[in-house]
Amino acid sequence: MMSVPQFPVPPAAVPAAEQQPQWPDPDAVTRVRERLAGLPPLVRPHDSDRLAALLGEVAGGRAFLLQGGDCAEMVERATPAAVHGTVATLSRLAGTLERAFGMPVVTVGRLAGQYAKPRSSPLETVQGHTLPAYRGDAVNGAAFTAEDRTPDPRRMLRAYEAAATTLRLVADRPEPRPVAREVFVSHEALLMDYELPLTRRDSRTGRAYAGSGHLLWAGERTRDPEGAHIAFLSRVANPVAVKIGPGARPDDLLRLARTLNPGAVPGRLTFIVRTGAGSVRRVLPELVGAVADAGVPVAWVCDPMHGNTVRVNGRKTRYFDDVYEEIAGFFEVHRALGTHPGGVHLEMTGADVTECLGGGSGAVWSAGVRPADLASRYESACDPRLNRTQALELGRLVAGLRTP
Ligand code: PEP
Ligand code: MN
Repeated sequence: MMSVPQFPVPPAAVPAAEQQPQWPDPDAVTRVRERLAGLPPLVRPHDSDRLAALLGEVAGGRAFLLQGGDCAEMVERATPAAVHGTVATLSRLAGTLERAFGMPVVTVGRLAGQYAKPRSSPLETVQGHTLPAYRGDAVNGAAFTAEDRTPDPRRMLRAYEAAATTLRLVADRPEPRPVAREVFVSHEALLMDYELPLTRRDSRTGRAYAGSGHLLWAGERTRDPEGAHIAFLSRVANPVAVKIGPGARPDDLLRLARTLNPGAVPGRLTFIVRTGAGSVRRVLPELVGAVADAGVPVAWVCDPMHGNTVRVNGRKTRYFDDVYEEIAGFFEVHRALGTHPGGVHLEMTGADVTECLGGGSGAVWSAGVRPADLASRYESACDPRLNRTQALELGRLVAGLRTP
């Protein structure tokens, strides 16, 4: 029997990882981990190193990061239509921002690995029935049935295959070569039974690399500096990021920076701040100030989605104007501090879905998505995404923020 590589080995003191599924059959998990450990890594260390160097340019104020894609990728949507749609929209957005800002835009999809979701509650109740919450296609199914919601580790193999397909589609897309920009892939490093077997030591350098994506991040719920996820990220050589919510204190960020970027290497660590439109101007200055005073080089990125989720007509949604407003506040804070607003992190798609409200030149809803439209094409398995039109409109508005 093939042994599962256990590095980076979490030290004994690290607590059990948060937000892991309750797999019904531990032996089945072991078998899947062995299979994953025998499969090729999905990305190459060399490419993760190149992305780290580009993110160093972002941290240094000479480049901008555009990161975007689904909240939760679905295995059945690893199709040319879905992947090419997302990548084409990202590419257009990147072009708009590049022209407006006069600097390279590093383009990173939430792609080829965004198959595991943290949940606020482990259970979901619908009309008196309670089932395990959906945790992403690598764990269970989105449909509200006992069969779908039972975690099945074989789904991790399907997620791996879908990620491999997605990477082929990203590499081989119909855009003409001269305009095709390089697109890297990223996801939340949540599911340890997936990430650990895909982590391999690079024979060139002897360093461990996550093979599941170029850039990995820890979410707002799993960013405990003493926790298992941060311990994992501290042990891989890939560029890493951490989501930062409105409750974060300056000391939390300094501890994360010491753990994840002890060598103070620009590009190694990105903070993705998601405070909400109403809090960014109040919360961000202290965080950016503390990190700048400590002399830690980080890239600052704005996620204007996760602090602005509301429920309308029984569905999770976000107002386009709130999304824009959080980015505007993020730019304002950085301009006032003389620091670099390094990028944006969006939940978006190339499809004409109706999941976020508004858009349509910021004017009236008649031009954008209205509450009554939510039901018509709400296709996200988790959080609401900007549709193609909304994403491109947001890009035009953000382009206008650069010049004072
Ligand atoms: C997400 O990016 O989908 C997510 C769950 O974000 P956060 O960890 O910031 O809540
Ligand atoms: Mn999300």
